[in-house]
Amino acid sequence: MVFCKMSDRTMARQVLLFIWFLSLSSALGQVSYSIPEEMAKGSLVGNIAQDLGLDLKRLKSGKARIFTGDSAEYIELNKERGILLIKERIDRESLCGQTTPCALHFQIILENPMEFYSVTIEVTDINDHSPSFKRAEMKFRISESAATGAVFVLERAMDLDVGINGLQTYILKATDNFSLKLQSQADGSKLVEMVLLKPLDREKQDHLSLVLTAIDGGDPQLSGTAQILITVLDANDNAPVFTHKTYKASITENAFKDTVVTIVSASDLDEGSYGKITYAITNTLDNVPELFEINETNGEMRVTGNIDYEKARHYQIHVQASDDGGLTDSCKIDVDVIDINDNKPQINIMSKLTTISENSNPGTVVTMINAQDPDAEENGKILCSVNENIPFTLKSTNTNFFSLVTDGDLDRERESEYNISMTCADEGVPSLSSRADLAVRASLVWTAVEHRHSRMRKGRH
Ligand code: CA
Ligand code: CA
Ligand code: CA
Ligand code: CA
Ligand code: CA
Repeated sequence: MVFCKMSDRTMARQVLLFIWFLSLSSALGQVSYSIPEEMAKGSLVGNIAQDLGLDLKRLKSGKARIFTGDSAEYIELNKERGILLIKERIDRESLCGQTTPCALHFQIILENPMEFYSVTIEVTDINDHSPSFKRAEMKFRISESAATGAVFVLERAMDLDVGINGLQTYILKATDNFSLKLQSQADGSKLVEMVLLKPLDREKQDHLSLVLTAIDGGDPQLSGTAQILITVLDANDNAPVFTHKTYKASITENAFKDTVVTIVSASDLDEGSYGKITYAITNTLDNVPELFEINETNGEMRVTGNIDYEKARHYQIHVQASDDGGLTDSCKIDVDVIDINDNKPQINIMSKLTTISENSNPGTVVTMINAQDPDAEENGKILCSVNENIPFTLKSTNTNFFSLVTDGDLDRERESEYNISMTCADEGVPSLSSRADLAVRASLVWTAVEHRHSRMRKGRH
């Protein structure tokens, strides 16, 4: 049996020669040796003369030589010493590949008389090859939404050595997200896979680098590695999140259009369109959409309508942030309207006397007025007064209600008509005011005594 690698042609020739030898002579013996591969040139294989029981003279006289057919000559015969030596370095891997056992077969031929001996040299494997991967890198693109249990087939390593020196197993590091799964195949090799154990999260780690190590069972053990490079693809697994749930802002009434009220901001951990945020006002039941506008890309909210403190002092604006994958968050903006003094007090005369009797008691009510100013605080606080040097005074009866009453004697002889100028001013800065003018005539009223006196005079006439 020939274990070495030979072409069919070579094998046929060897068989023919072998038959030719058999016809001429007979094999006198055979001997086997076992040597490891890769022995240095000149190393001793065996003492063939001693092992075949031949003396050195016979080797010389018989012109002993090695016959190998035309296969490479790895072994040489030293006739002087009767030993077999390594002629060429033997590489078991190129000689036999994965076939075991691996052996060299040849004959030692002698002449006068013609004899031959069969020699078998078994070449044993040494661990001179590391397991290796064809490619140093394996690249994967895996979505972060990949389900646990997903399987990814890895490239296998190879080791030219055989038996225990051949590939034994694999180790995968780091194994936070993946575990290694080895499945024995019918041909004795292993199917190498990695299984997703824990979901990936692109937002935490968008690239993973693992190392797959293949090890053999030699001593010392040899190994080979390949890098597994994983690019984690994004999924829309994050909704936008506003920096604040509630924003506070204030705006003065009558603010110009395009005045910036506030800027809201939301962020989204995803990338690309899954992380692209669009802002929108979502109020539907009030007039907020007519008064305010939000920039859909930068969250800047501006005034677009008339802000009137006297109509509304507060707005609650609801804003939604959405990503292109349909996930949303919302926030509200509490906008306080700041009053400005844009209303002057309004004077309403509730009732008035146009004439008043000359002898009215001091404190007689001539007019009752109500003053109103819709502004806030000081801007709406009203102070009313009347002009000086008239026998009237203004009394505050209630908030914003005033009575104009007589103050001192009215003397028709001196003044029959009083022009009263009432001014109501607010306390805003600058202050706004209104004026109301009133003319009151003092009428002559006869006293009782005078009345009688006049009648008596009548009687005398
Ligand atoms: Ca080897
Ligand atoms: Ca998102
Ligand atoms: Ca994501
Ligand atoms: Ca005012
Ligand atoms: Ca106002």
